[in-house]
Amino acid sequence: MSESNSPVQACDECQRLTEERERAQRVYDYSKVTDCNVLLARHQRSSGHGAAG
Ligand SMILES: [Zn+2]
Repeated sequence: MSESNSPVQACDECQRLTEERERAQRVYDYSKVTDCNVLLARHQRSSGHGAAG
């Protein structure tokens, strides 16, 4: 594997939640988008890597 561009993408959970959020955005499922944002923020806090943006 090459060098990771960002610590977020290096984390499986972050990547998974981000991909799920993108899928929700494609189908305009904003409640799920919000849900993913909450889960992502919570995970990043508990994991110690900061949320970007
Ligand atoms: Zn993570």
